[in-house]
Amino acid sequence: MDMDLHIEENFPLAEMTTFKVGGAAKLFVRVESENELFQALEMASKSDHEVFILGGGSNILVSDEGFEGVVIHIDLKGATVAESNNGRVIVTAAAGEDWDEFVGFCVEQNLAGLECLSGIPGLVGGTPIQNVGAYGQEVSESIVSVKAFDRLSKTVKTLQNEDCGFEYRKSIFNTTEKDRYVVLEVQYSLAKNGAPKIVYGDLKATFEGREPSLIETRRAVCEIRESKGMLVRQGGLDAQSAGSFFKNPIVSREKLTDLELKMRQKDIVNVPHYSIDDNTVKIPAAWLIEQAGFQKGFTKGNAGLSTKHTLALTNRGNSTAEEILNLKNEIQQKVFGEFGIELNPEPNLIGFN
Ligand SMILES: Cc1cc2nc3c(=O)[nH]c(=O)nc-3n(C[C@H](O)[C@H](O)[C@H](O)COP(=O)(O)OP(=O)(O)OC[C@H]3O[C@@H](n4cnc5c(N)ncnc54)[C@H](O)[C@@H]3O)c2cc1C
Repeated sequence: MDMDLHIEENFPLAEMTTFKVGGAAKLFVRVESENELFQALEMASKSDHEVFILGGGSNILVSDEGFEGVVIHIDLKGATVAESNNGRVIVTAAAGEDWDEFVGFCVEQNLAGLECLSGIPGLVGGTPIQNVGAYGQEVSESIVSVKAFDRLSKTVKTLQNEDCGFEYRKSIFNTTEKDRYVVLEVQYSLAKNGAPKIVYGDLKATFEGREPSLIETRRAVCEIRESKGMLVRQGGLDAQSAGSFFKNPIVSREKLTDLELKMRQKDIVNVPHYSIDDNTVKIPAAWLIEQAGFQKGFTKGNAGLSTKHTLALTNRGNSTAEEILNLKNEIQQKVFGEFGIELNPEPNLIGFN
């Protein structure tokens, strides 16, 4: 049955990731059709191997020892566009499509809803996993449904938006149902000739009250990302990362008051935060990291922080995964020690004990 599958042994994973670190996969299969995916999963199950589903590798850190199982790289292609009668357009994209090219395509078709998510690396199938978001927009605002293979029931299911449990950097796919579903395709509802979403401070400042086109918005988002070293395509050492390494912590308002009192002793009167609801606020992790004593460009061995953004841990060229992990631990401990706030990593750690 697995005759069509091209299975590679001891496959180096570093080049498949944006961090460019990590060891090899015991077995590696690239799947170009749903049928190949089913075969690969069957092969893994029969040979009792653990499975890791790999998209664009932009949100993972692979251990130096690599992964002792089967890595299945999703290479499903294709996208369709269907007009509905309410000014919305339904676009369906296969999980292996390049995300940023897909966003570019939608923007060029004058379809609004994804423009602020320009310049994010990775593939379409990776975006519902952590409900990708940037510059005031989240992918869950446009997702209608996610078609996925359920590894538990061994059937293909269509999960509607409300079934996916989307929250900030969260969905059922990275929490309650982690590793259960393999995303096959994602369906979006976009606004034909709709206005771009300009709510983020940097974007508002760029356009100063004027309503830009979707293309101008996409360009501005990419320029802002470039200034923060958050574009993989610009290359350079700052880009050898997984983007933001920590989620912005959500804390109670009491905790915020404690923090404000503490910072006042250091003559800092303003603790940046965004209101989530009556009881909770989100504090920028980058600000906490800086206040804990880590500055842009901080280095430790071959790992470091981006020279443009303290939130991105970077491989300075020859870093091991262990060096990156040690830096992550040091930052978490310092921030917790100083402020009693836990920073949770955004990327998935693969092959670590
Ligand atoms: C420079 C840079 C900037 C970034 N900026 C942002 C940002 O602004 N906002 C943001 O939210 N993220 C950002 N990221 C993180 C990352 O790009 C996104 O999370 C992206 O969606 C990950 O997709 P991927 O295909 O690379 O997934 P991978 O890294 O390959 O995988 C990530 C996780 O998703 C799972 N997965 C991937 N594909 C599938 C599938 N088809 N089915 C089931 N599970 C799957 C994997 O198993 C893994 O657990 C950035 C990363 C970098 C390097």
